[in-house]
Amino acid sequence: MNFEPTEMQQQITQVIRDFGKTHMQPHVLEWDETQTFPVQLFKQLGELGLMGVLVPEQYGGSGLGYLEYVTVISEVAKICGAIGLSVAAHNSLCTGHILQFGSEEQKQRYLPKLANAEWIGAWGLTEPNTGSDAMNMKCVAHKDGDEWVINGTKSWITHGKSGDVAVVIVRTGNVRDSHGMTAFVVERGTPGFSGGKKENKLGMRASETAEMIFDNCRIPAANMLGHEGEGFIQSMKVLDGGRISIAALSLGIAKGAYEAALKYAQERHQFDKPIASFQGISFKLADMATEIMAAELLTMQAADGKTRGAKVTQQAAMAKYYASEVAVRTANEAVQIFGGYGYTKDFPVEKFYRDAKLCTIGEGTSEIQKLVIAREALK
Ligand SMILES: Cc1cc2nc3c(=O)[nH]c(=O)nc-3n(C[C@H](O)[C@H](O)[C@H](O)COP(=O)(O)OP(=O)(O)OC[C@H]3O[C@@H](n4cnc5c(N)ncnc54)[C@H](O)[C@@H]3O)c2cc1C
Repeated sequence: MNFEPTEMQQQITQVIRDFGKTHMQPHVLEWDETQTFPVQLFKQLGELGLMGVLVPEQYGGSGLGYLEYVTVISEVAKICGAIGLSVAAHNSLCTGHILQFGSEEQKQRYLPKLANAEWIGAWGLTEPNTGSDAMNMKCVAHKDGDEWVINGTKSWITHGKSGDVAVVIVRTGNVRDSHGMTAFVVERGTPGFSGGKKENKLGMRASETAEMIFDNCRIPAANMLGHEGEGFIQSMKVLDGGRISIAALSLGIAKGAYEAALKYAQERHQFDKPIASFQGISFKLADMATEIMAAELLTMQAADGKTRGAKVTQQAAMAKYYASEVAVRTANEAVQIFGGYGYTKDFPVEKFYRDAKLCTIGEGTSEIQKLVIAREALK
């Protein structure tokens, strides 16, 4: 296997680094402190082709594969994890669901506007009482003539308030029946659909996380994605791709924290020597570098399989599980290497530390990834 980045991956890296220096880096801390979701930035990212990375060119996207997608998410996350999370949720959850399961008419209506970020996408599976246990969802839809009427609340939704279009998975059958859920597209402005409480989070603070409330929200039957009863199975397939996204997000955060720590360890002197010359510090850097490399290989393997159309349920779960835990460990050690300075907002590592933790929770916790990996192994 050739592990060298392709010319396209190198170009993507350069574009994001150049763009990030001017349009992201100077604002990252302010967005974090004020919990600002910078909508305008996403429009600019849309102009760069980063909001429809996997969308074929015929629908206005960039038409790239998962390897390039991993490069996009990890490079953005190196600058700001929260922006990386939002780019990931938009691309692989909302847009990815319509791309995989939408009809030709739905693809033509939604994908071009999502790909250029004229519309920001949201994807709602989680509810206040059902996170890991998604089959127990309470948000329901019932058919009334040519329409479906949705009632209930989705929580923890990335872009739950600001999203212009949402894919929502709701109950249309019995509780715990894997064929009892259906996916619909709901557009902002539809009567009965509103954004609810915005969460005040530990990290990923520039990525909006909020409730979506449905109160007798009527949508045309034509807004159903696929067929009635396919929502849960579709969601599990969407999450296979989504988990590669979170692995890439984790990788970017881990690399950002490692690179900052590597530089600082060579600049900071104690006992008349750079702290990197102490084995206690250099061994931390060695562990970080090794674990990041291993996480990258797992992520690339899952991305390669996904691009080839292989079933990657286990590989995506392994990549997500391992890379997210590595991000948390790396950011933790980076703060340690920075000492007291690492505990302040004058240096980037405290934000990496806060942002990293989401990666072991969102799109399935580490424990749920282990369930998926074990289930596949025991088949
Ligand atoms: C910033 C952020 C953004 C998010 N964005 C979205 C989004 O866009 N769309 C969306 O639908 N959701 C989103 N989520 C929700 C996210 O996917 C859930 O938080 C996650 O799936 C975990 O669910 P939970 O929080 O309800 O935890 P719970 O399911 O209540 O789990 C609590 C704890 O119990 C453990 N646990 C649960 N079941 C088991 C088991 N069977 N075996 C062992 N341990 C178990 C978990 O691992 C965890 O440690 C987001 C969450 C956050 C924090």
